[in-house]
Amino acid sequence: MCYCRALPAPKTKAAKQARLERILKALDQLYPNATCALRHRNAWELLVATILSAQCTDERVNQVTPELFRKYPTIADLAAAPVEEVAQQIRSTGFYNNKAKNLVGAARTILTKFHGEVPRRMQDLLTVPGAARKTANVVLGTAFGIPSGVVVDTHVQRIARRLDLTKHDQPVKIEQDLMKLLPQERWISFSHQVIHFGREICSARKPKCHRCPIEPDCYAKDKVKPPR
Ligand code: SF4
Repeated sequence: MCYCRALPAPKTKAAKQARLERILKALDQLYPNATCALRHRNAWELLVATILSAQCTDERVNQVTPELFRKYPTIADLAAAPVEEVAQQIRSTGFYNNKAKNLVGAARTILTKFHGEVPRRMQDLLTVPGAARKTANVVLGTAFGIPSGVVVDTHVQRIARRLDLTKHDQPVKIEQDLMKLLPQERWISFSHQVIHFGREICSARKPKCHRCPIEPDCYAKDKVKPPR
């Protein structure tokens, strides 16, 4: 249901910039310490958890990884593990055969090509099985603090469009738009904040617009009328 008490879309560059700054400020106030919900102790564990999180909730991944890392504590342990055995270990995360192949492949690649260290460059990470651009951005941003890009998951994808920060549907293009719009020092925190915002307030179905601090700046077509 359209909820038409929002401001009209800003026309000038200055008005668009002012709106963006209000949105960023609201996210800072809502989530001043937002970070990645996937539990990890190092870059390798974050890479594994991120590969497992495809089509799966972070909660489920967090249930599976402690036992996985207990059974295969090092990269070398996972590189030497039979794929079928790993698949059984991660079964509940879904797509487990493919994920197991990627995990073992990632461990072998990191051992043989990168001396057992998770690489810190986007072009290197993209050669690791299971690591596409989103995964690489998660690892570089969260484990190493390197703002290589903006993580575009399903929440960032939906909310960037709702807030008219992009017109695109494809994650790669959305990321390019966000990288142009946002200052680089916001690339890492923006994704963490928007992912929390998407889970708690701006959900896919029935967004809680009545308690959204961005509401006056939101002219999304699917805004929801507040309950009476
Ligand atoms: S919660 Fe509602 S008002 Fe807030 S950004 Fe999402 S759609 Fe717009």
